[in-house]
Order: sequence, then C-alpha cells, then structure tokens
Amino acid sequence: MLSVSEARERILAVFSPVDSQTVPLERAAGRILSRDILARTDLPIFDNSSVDGFALHAADLDADHPLTVIADICAGEYTETPIQPGQSARVMTGAALPPGTAAVIMVEDTDFSVRNPGPPAPKMVTISKAVEKGSNIRPRGGDLHTGAKVLSGGTRLRAQEIGLLAMLGEAMVPVYRQPQLAILSSGDELLPVDAPLIPGKIHESNSLTLATLAGTAGVELIKLGVAKDTRADIRSRLKRAVKAGADVIVSSAGVSVGAFDYVKTVIEEDGEVDFWKVDMRPGKPLAFGRYAGIPFFGLPGNPVSAFVGFEVFVRPALEKLSGQEVRSRPSEKATLGEPVESDGRESYLRAVVNHENGRLVARLAGSQSSGNIFSLVRANALLIVPSGVKSLLANSEVEIWPIA
Ligand code: AMP
Ligand code: MG
Repeated sequence: MLSVSEARERILAVFSPVDSQTVPLERAAGRILSRDILARTDLPIFDNSSVDGFALHAADLDADHPLTVIADICAGEYTETPIQPGQSARVMTGAALPPGTAAVIMVEDTDFSVRNPGPPAPKMVTISKAVEKGSNIRPRGGDLHTGAKVLSGGTRLRAQEIGLLAMLGEAMVPVYRQPQLAILSSGDELLPVDAPLIPGKIHESNSLTLATLAGTAGVELIKLGVAKDTRADIRSRLKRAVKAGADVIVSSAGVSVGAFDYVKTVIEEDGEVDFWKVDMRPGKPLAFGRYAGIPFFGLPGNPVSAFVGFEVFVRPALEKLSGQEVRSRPSEKATLGEPVESDGRESYLRAVVNHENGRLVARLAGSQSSGNIFSLVRANALLIVPSGVKSLLANSEVEIWPIA
C-alpha cells in the first residue's frame, strides 16, 4: 500500500498551475500573483514631511533665531522654489519638501501656536529646539527603489500586498485564474441539512465541510450535490463537472469495499484510478485518478476521514494548481501529555494542544472514531504518529499540525 508521502508525490506530479489573467487591483485580494512585480517608482516617490511643521535650511538647525516663512505647503502641493538660509516654509504631513530642506521641525517645537493650525501661515517663526539634519524627512526611496523586486509570482495577495500594489500604481494585476473545484457527495442515506430526517437517513455534511476547506484554499466551487448509490447518478453528476469546466473533482464516500461503493467503479469505467488505498489513519480508502481527464480525489465518506484527506492531499494539490509554491505545511513540535497508541499506519489524530509551563503539550481530543466529528471540533491540532510506530510514551516529542 502507498505511504502518505508516496501518494502525495504521485498526486502533486499530476498538477500544474492554471493559466493567468489580469484583474483590477480592487478585486485581487486573496488571488495568487502570476509573475514577479518590480517597483515602477521609488517609495516614497518624493522627499516629504512626516510631521506638521516647518522646513529648515541646513544653516538654521539651531534654536532661537527667527526665520522668514516664504511658503505654506499642504499635502498635495509642490514647489520648486528653494528655501535659503534664514527662510522656512510651513509644511503639512505628507507635503513635498521644498528644495534645500535639511530637516523639518514639528510645529510643537516652534513659537507658532498649535492651537491655531489653519491658514494663514505666520510671517515669521522661531524654533525653540535644535534639530538634527534629516529629522522628520521621509526621503525619496526610503522604503524601496525603482526596479526592486517587491513581490514574487506565487504570492497570495493579502491586505498589505494590495496596499503596496496600490502605492505603486498597479491598477491591473496579473494573477492565476481561480481553479474550479467540483464537490460531490454520494450515498442513499444522505439528506440535505434542511430536510426532515426519516429513519435510516442522516444529514449530509461532507460537501459543506469540504466547501469550507476549499474556500480557504481560494478556489471556486462547482456543487454537484448528493448522488444516489447508482452508477447512473454518479456518472451524470460527474459529467456535469466536466461540462462546467472543473479543474479538479473531489468526492466523498463510495470508494471503499461496500456493496454499493460505485464511485470507484465509475472512475474506472470513464477514466482511470491511479490508487485507491493509502497507508494512513483515518482515511485508508482514498482514491486518486482521473475522470474524463480531470484529476479526481475520492475521499472516504466518514466526516473526519474526509477532512483529513483534504488537508493531507487535496490542499497541497490545490496550492500547486492555483500557482502557489507548495510548501510543507507549517508544523510544530509538542510534548505528549499522555501515552498514545496507534496501529502502525501514519496517523493524524485529533488533539488538543496547550501551552503548559513553557512547553506545548498535546493530548488526544477524545474519540478517534472517524465518524465522530465532535472531537474534531474540540481539537485544535492533528497529531501525527509516524508510520511504523504503534505506541508513544507520555513526554515523547511529536509533530502537530495546528488546525485552529
Ligand atoms: P461510505 O464510504 O459510503 O461507506 O461511507 C462511510 C460513512 O460515511 C458512512 O457512515 C456514511 O454514512 C458516511 N458518509 C458518507 N458520505 C457522507 C456525507 N457526505 N456526509 C456525512 N456522512 C457521510
Ligand atoms: Mg456510502
């Protein structure tokens, strides 16, 4: 049987980034840059004042002599008239500094009343404190220089990247297209969340859990609903995914060895199954292949297995598909607060991890039955027991994946 890392390698080999497009910056949040961005200007673009105050010539940085105020420069204004020794200009925060400015003194450190900030500027000002050269000046290029590589292709655009791109005047941004992910559930026992239950039926949950996980991976969804346990219904829904232009299909249930587990059969008939078992817990019955050429994940039906299968295999595949660099998932080391048993398969156990006396301590979050979703809710991490390990003593060091 394939190990988790072998399975992940085989999966990742199948994916390559979708094509790119250009979108307005205001709609680019969360998207993945498809090429590097070089700064087209310096930032700041011009020398400007970081305070409301008075621009000073290099000859006038000492306290206590009166200066003639020759200009009143608001943010947004610009003058080419230099200040000379003995002269000053009133400047507001963000205002372009007149040529010849060696420093800016805060209005609070002058004899000009702070209580009277509006126009007109005084005719004369006396500074009450000596200033260092360069004080309160935000120099042109002090943040970054023209031509600098400021963002790399593959970066997810967060608020701060959006702000930087705006300051650089990048109104249209090259990003990867959002991958289309089709989600299918299957099982005669499944009813929608808003349907009254009747004996033998349960509310369907996987499509909602998986859609939520997919949302955090930045893909768009094609909802295929719940297929009956028949080949015809499974097939017709998968065909809808093809028509809708799915880049990848994720289904849950129907890939085990039950008498009505037809999902795998349909994939075999209309495409190919690359593998359908992985040596892990939970989530051993996990199929991967192609349906009509489209990469296909058949996750197990049990809600916790479906969740873990998504995090272990689907998320990294979506990262690669969406143009991101596939990094190994951020993991942490924790100390076991209790002994843990496993069965030798690589295990992803629901755990609660807390800071205790300066260390991270992990304990199991109750039942590890793959149908019990409540312990997944109580957990804040998955605790990884490596393949081949059947028991771990209290105080052993373990790897955890935060899932908060
Ligand atoms: P199966 O893989 O079809 O044998 O399903 C395994 C278990 O997962 C069964 O108990 C199913 O009822 C349950 N299950 C399958 N699909 C879903 C779903 N979409 N939502 C909630 N439970 C499910
Ligand atoms: Mg089933």
